[in-house]
Amino acid sequence: IELPIHEAVLGRAAEFGDTPALVDGTDGTTLTYEQVDRFHRRVAAALAEAGVRKGDVLALHSPNTVAFPVAFYGATRAGASVTTVHPLATAQEFAKQLRDSAARWIVTVSPLLASAREAAELAGGVQEIFVCDSAPGHRSLIDMLASEAPEPEVAVDPAEDVAALPYSSGTTGVPKGVMLTHRQIATNLAQLEPAVDTGPGERILAVLPFFHIYGLTALMNAPLRKGATVVVLPRFELESFLAAIQNHRITGLYVAPPIVLALAKHPAVTQYDLSSLKYIVSAAAPLDAELAAACSRRLGLPPVGQAYGMTELSPGTHVVPLDAMADAPPGTVGRLIAGTEMRIVSLDDPGKDLDVGEPGEILIRGPQVMKGYLGRPDATAEMIDADGWLHTGDVGHVDDDGWLFVVDRVKELIKYKGFQVAPAELEAILLTHPAIADAAVVGVRNEDGNEIPHAFVVAQQAAAGDLTEGEVMMYVAERVAPYKRVRQVTFIDAVPRAASGKTLRRELKERA
Ligand code: ATP
Ligand code: MG
Repeated sequence: IELPIHEAVLGRAAEFGDTPALVDGTDGTTLTYEQVDRFHRRVAAALAEAGVRKGDVLALHSPNTVAFPVAFYGATRAGASVTTVHPLATAQEFAKQLRDSAARWIVTVSPLLASAREAAELAGGVQEIFVCDSAPGHRSLIDMLASEAPEPEVAVDPAEDVAALPYSSGTTGVPKGVMLTHRQIATNLAQLEPAVDTGPGERILAVLPFFHIYGLTALMNAPLRKGATVVVLPRFELESFLAAIQNHRITGLYVAPPIVLALAKHPAVTQYDLSSLKYIVSAAAPLDAELAAACSRRLGLPPVGQAYGMTELSPGTHVVPLDAMADAPPGTVGRLIAGTEMRIVSLDDPGKDLDVGEPGEILIRGPQVMKGYLGRPDATAEMIDADGWLHTGDVGHVDDDGWLFVVDRVKELIKYKGFQVAPAELEAILLTHPAIADAAVVGVRNEDGNEIPHAFVVAQQAAAGDLTEGEVMMYVAERVAPYKRVRQVTFIDAVPRAASGKTLRRELKERA
């Protein structure tokens, strides 16, 4: 699609007029489509008047609020590239991202202002800090709405200009700035659209963060493009999440596996009326088929559908279409979307394409492949080969009908005596144990140099103290080939996870 992202998303805003576009799930503050359209234009005008120029990087540092999209599209309309920042980033982490992206502007919220100021001080180069709400001494988005400055005339080149500069999650290493052009993001929206139809009348709950590419796409760009209503929550907390579904009659959920786990197992779930829900989509990390089934059975919904992608892919390549959720094979992350090519190649012999059913590395080529990592041509070249194939670092296989199954990340496979063990498979088995509330598995090196599967287990509250390490190991041993057995167990209070729902296996490795 040859449109700047704000046009691609808000092009029909006038048509949706008084339909609520964004609702604050906590206090009910509502912005209609007409308001989002008008407000983001005013913000663009005021930002341009303040000095924001085409190509400047603007750091958007905020939890999910109704103002977030206004700031985002206002900034892109002013010609800026938006780098989204984790609202809980420390000042040092934030400063690093500011330096790395050479950001000149910050938009934050008053509760985070101190941290934003400290980060700007540390990084240098920041011209001004704006706030979405209000804070003494800072221009706010609210002031900007009254701006009488003319709307900036910025000639955006959708094919070249970077609209968003999200950082990858940092699950496997240092987070990298991913350059996504207007065309890449807008095209991916159009590619995903037939599968995830979130039009007028749909009510989507934005509980995953907008700053991560999954939330930005599934919870902001996609529903706003189609006239749906987005109810925003600043963070995931089970009871307020369930209350929001009930009170706002939410129709569709885009979540990550830990939320599916909570919906499947947590006792509080049955105390809420969740009957408005029509479907659940999960992405961002491996989801066990049995857990997904337990969740949909409990809620009386079609099977949880998955989607697959990564920041570097703007972000999507596979999704289970809404109308195929009932029939898709359990565990699949979906079918390849239009205009995208995939290969599955051997892990030992990367030039060799594999047959149906054989697991190998997933390679992707298509219009949604990132422009590159910011300032990291070496890392970009490592990721995208000369023929344009992006090497995902994920292991998967397809079936005869083209459904993709993701096994795990290549880097996280546990190499046990020449065999490869996928931690996700063992985690899935552990989660079927009635006394286990949550689990994560990592490979740790033992004395003889072998990597062995080490399980971190959170016991169900009622079972805490009764469940033994031996029992956990036995439970897995009864269900897998001997080389896959869990060989060490540690009980913990909670599995460490990123805001996007990913298990932080690196942290657990250090603990092990
Ligand atoms: P970094 O690249 O910085 O280490 P990250 O890979 O976690 O972090 P993201 O781009 O947010 O950063 O995540 C993409 C990854 O998430 C994919 O490569 C894949 O491993 C995983 N993923 C996404 N969707 C699914 C899914 N449906 N099933 C399994 N894994 C998934
Ligand atoms: Mg990655």
